[in-house]
Amino acid sequence: MSSLKKEFVPTQTEMMAWTKEIFNQGIRRPGYPADIKIEKWVEEKFKAIGLHNITLNPVKVKKWEANDAKLKIWRIDKPNQILDIPCFPIPYTEPVDNLEAELCLDSEDVLRSGALIVSELKLLKFPVRTLKAMSGIDRFYDPKNEFEDLEQIVPFDYKMQKFLEQLSSKNPGEIAGFIGILSGYPWETDKYYVPYDAVQRNIPGVYVSPNNGKRILEFIKNSTVKANLSYKATISETTSHNISGCLYGASDEWVVIGTHHDGPWNSAVEDASGMALVLAQAKYWSQIPENQRPFNILFLMNCAHMAGARGAFSFVEQHKEFLEKAVVGIHLEHVARDVKTENGKLIPLDDPTVRWWFVSRILPLEEIVEDAIIKENLERSILLPPDGFPPGRDSPPTDGGFYHLEGIPFISFLTAPPYLFDPADTLDKIHQESYEAITRAVIRMIDSLRGYTVNELRSLVLSKKERYKIRKNELKSIKK
Ligand SMILES: [Zn+2]
Repeated sequence: MSSLKKEFVPTQTEMMAWTKEIFNQGIRRPGYPADIKIEKWVEEKFKAIGLHNITLNPVKVKKWEANDAKLKIWRIDKPNQILDIPCFPIPYTEPVDNLEAELCLDSEDVLRSGALIVSELKLLKFPVRTLKAMSGIDRFYDPKNEFEDLEQIVPFDYKMQKFLEQLSSKNPGEIAGFIGILSGYPWETDKYYVPYDAVQRNIPGVYVSPNNGKRILEFIKNSTVKANLSYKATISETTSHNISGCLYGASDEWVVIGTHHDGPWNSAVEDASGMALVLAQAKYWSQIPENQRPFNILFLMNCAHMAGARGAFSFVEQHKEFLEKAVVGIHLEHVARDVKTENGKLIPLDDPTVRWWFVSRILPLEEIVEDAIIKENLERSILLPPDGFPPGRDSPPTDGGFYHLEGIPFISFLTAPPYLFDPADTLDKIHQESYEAITRAVIRMIDSLRGYTVNELRSLVLSKKERYKIRKNELKSIKK
């Protein structure tokens, strides 16, 4: 029998009201006024819910600000026809004042010294069935049988990441700067807030939109092209805060439920929606009597995800001893709506973006997650391993990744819609009809963990090989 008390689950209306309040504060980059306001807001909400030991832990972060970006280009054979191209400075790059340089395509064999390198970028696109195969985890919930034909576009471009690393490592004198054309982006934008690792890059760089990029490429086709680039930018040290509060339960051990409170823009999905999920858990569990809560629960909203995940790192550094008593870490991010594009515009659809559930290699934990997903009919859900996705990673690409690196059993919910780092991440992109179901599913997961201890759950962690062997036999016997 489930102990889920449906009447205590906050409603979709209440969760959307929180989401709107967060969204309406403004751009929540680390150290920006809106993010500072939201820290206070979270503290007030935690107080109103009745959490104990509410703490704001300071974290040093690098705040990046840029403005006044101007890009002019002209053909050297027609120097009087100057194009003004709108552009967006790449986060944490070097400001520049009236840099005049020739443009050079990154496809050319030799990158010209002193040139502005022009690179066409596209977002990574793959069929969901490859994700299913790659994951090695044979658990997913796809009741409408969509995964066979469904494609996902995720907001990452590995070519650019690699290129930027290469450029940053070079002598800045060799290459003057970088122009990233968002050619393969299915909508018209240049506001791509990536990379957000807060690593200072010693060259300037800007993004331009697909259509404006076409104008530049057209010029390059016909002549040698020169550009003049300017923008102001500063990186300053500032202080953000990880905010936590707790509820006590019937065990000495802990569950941590967290997300991050900053974002690249007003960012509804990233991550006002995750904050609404964490607040909903706090509000639900506050209404359950202490002796019926299976564990103590720490609610955590960490800072600076958009500045190298400093908040999450700092939390681990400061709480090693505490985390030894954590049965499971649950990280909740991004309740996203799927979109299509028409004529360079994003159009929200009825369906949710494919839901990724990263889970430790612990079979009973996988079963608990899968069972809750099915009970709450969370279609388009797929369980993913704690490492190896995206390829080459040793932990999930979320602030929940640190649980895995610290050997703590974890569940990390994430979606990665293409608009995640763009101002197009507005309230209409929230898949609000999932809010209550995801909340109930997470409550079910915690209820199902009742009786497990830290030692027991950690002793059940399997290697990739071990898991494969056991699961193969399990599936065989199910088929018989
Ligand atoms: Zn996020």
